[in-house]
Amino acid sequence: MQDALGSSPQVQLEPFVNWATIVRRDHVFVIKPTSNAEVQKVMHVAISLNRKIREAGESALSWSPLFPDEGQILLNLTLLTLEGGQRAIFNPPTVQRPYPTVTVAAGVRQDELDSFLLSVGHAIASGPQPIQVTIAGGIGTASHGGSYDEPSLGGYLESVQVFDSYGRLRQFTASENRNVLRAMRCHLGLLGVIVEVEMMVEPVQMVSLFTVFVPLSLMLNATFVKEIVTRNFYVEARWATYNSLTEEEVQETMATGRVPTTWNSKRDLVWLSFINPNGTEPDLDLDFDVNFDLNVTPISFGQRIFAALATRRFIANPVVVPKPFAIHGLNASAIPTVTATETTIRENPSFTSTVSAFQVVAASIEGASYANGILPLGIVEMRWIKGTDCFLCPGKEDVCGFPSDSHYLTMEIQGLVQPTEAFEGYKQFTTAVLSQLNQVGLSGLPNWAKMLTTFPGLRQRLHDPENRQCQLEFLKVRDQIDPQGYMFSNNFLRTIFIDSSYMYIYN
Ligand SMILES: Cc1cc2nc3c(=O)[nH]c(=O)nc-3n(C[C@H](O)[C@H](O)[C@H](O)COP(=O)(O)OP(=O)(O)OC[C@H]3O[C@@H](n4cnc5c(N)ncnc54)[C@H](O)[C@@H]3O)c2cc1C
Repeated sequence: MQDALGSSPQVQLEPFVNWATIVRRDHVFVIKPTSNAEVQKVMHVAISLNRKIREAGESALSWSPLFPDEGQILLNLTLLTLEGGQRAIFNPPTVQRPYPTVTVAAGVRQDELDSFLLSVGHAIASGPQPIQVTIAGGIGTASHGGSYDEPSLGGYLESVQVFDSYGRLRQFTASENRNVLRAMRCHLGLLGVIVEVEMMVEPVQMVSLFTVFVPLSLMLNATFVKEIVTRNFYVEARWATYNSLTEEEVQETMATGRVPTTWNSKRDLVWLSFINPNGTEPDLDLDFDVNFDLNVTPISFGQRIFAALATRRFIANPVVVPKPFAIHGLNASAIPTVTATETTIRENPSFTSTVSAFQVVAASIEGASYANGILPLGIVEMRWIKGTDCFLCPGKEDVCGFPSDSHYLTMEIQGLVQPTEAFEGYKQFTTAVLSQLNQVGLSGLPNWAKMLTTFPGLRQRLHDPENRQCQLEFLKVRDQIDPQGYMFSNNFLRTIFIDSSYMYIYN
């Protein structure tokens, strides 16, 4: 391969491991092109040597097996620049386009883009938390923030440049290629090598950020949930499990191997984080009388996370910072590895989906803890987002049967990756809870970045009447860029998506 490529770009035959250390390959061909010409060279060599290509962001943050199979090419676009050598270009509003945009090289991370945009007084409106997420990688899995009125990252997409499976550079825009953009908003690495992205941006705002604790029982009150979610710009709820266990209950759990029924999840506290444009904080009474004891012996991952939320992560007095630092300030390299599974459930105007979902999860955690002891869980996290005009986004807008202006609850369950028994216990429990949610009609699509192997019946879910047409439309776009997924798919994705030629026959 190196002979065919010449002196650059360099090829390294290396092992691969993702951030969570759960997707591993012994050998992949890692190539880091710096220009479109180098990407094209790699494409032509891959075609001639019959190698498949998958891309990954700099930190490969996704939990799911979206990466190359053994012996295939891993394209890392961290060093890639735009054609003129810049990493990002700010485009002020014009008569035809009355809002500003940024054109950015696909492998640029959120923190680099934030710094660039801040230097011109702008910012992306929302986005996932880690600073390490790359722009193409974040859009690829429909990664999202926590604002009721903001979509996943692809919702800001204006245009993309991609190399297709023949090595041709193609440009698609929101105005001229609507269906392609609908597919690109959650591309899963299946729609070619993205080298350039143009996104809508906004003037930067200063925001205030603070946290409170509320009793979990309040999150079972739909009126309260609706108030906090719809009246704040950004809301995140984290329930670090078992945080109200008393020392006596801990001792009894250790002695019997089971959590005593005196522990009731409704007694636990939920950490809420709020972000609002500075000076626009709503008048909400969030002053609850809450008590906790950090001296109780920690016997669960949840208690340990709670201690961090109650100390380092607690912001009693609002701090005012530029918005990007508040919405995506997480350094994923500085936190311990966890695993996560997330379902995205359509929320209704009265917020009963959130309450029902919380009830199901809380009852499952209680039941399993009384029967089998402490679960290897960290937090249950909830955020609320707006739908996007997108085929595979778990939060979709007005395609495939959903009316427009849809909003979604995203519910994530985090757990331990190590030791192996804990990881297995996490997977078993999470699959069981998601199955229960399905049974009570709270089924959604997964966050594609998170554990997909714990998501029950994903292939069937993509074929149910709500999603089947969307899947077909996505595969039609995929086939324009990479017929039958020959160049850019991988073994895992082939098990999820139906063979598109079969779909065309039956639709
Ligand atoms: C600690 C932590 C916190 C997180 N918080 C959030 C959160 O708040 N909200 C949320 O929604 N998600 C969150 N995530 C998930 C994260 O946002 C996604 O995994 C995201 O896709 C990671 O971006 P990446 O650049 O690492 O891409 P990768 O994970 O490497 O890749 C994602 C997909 O994009 C494809 N891809 C990457 N670059 C290109 C390219 N140039 N061309 C074509 N395809 C490409 C890959 O093939 C893959 O299919 C979190 C993850 C971690 C580890």
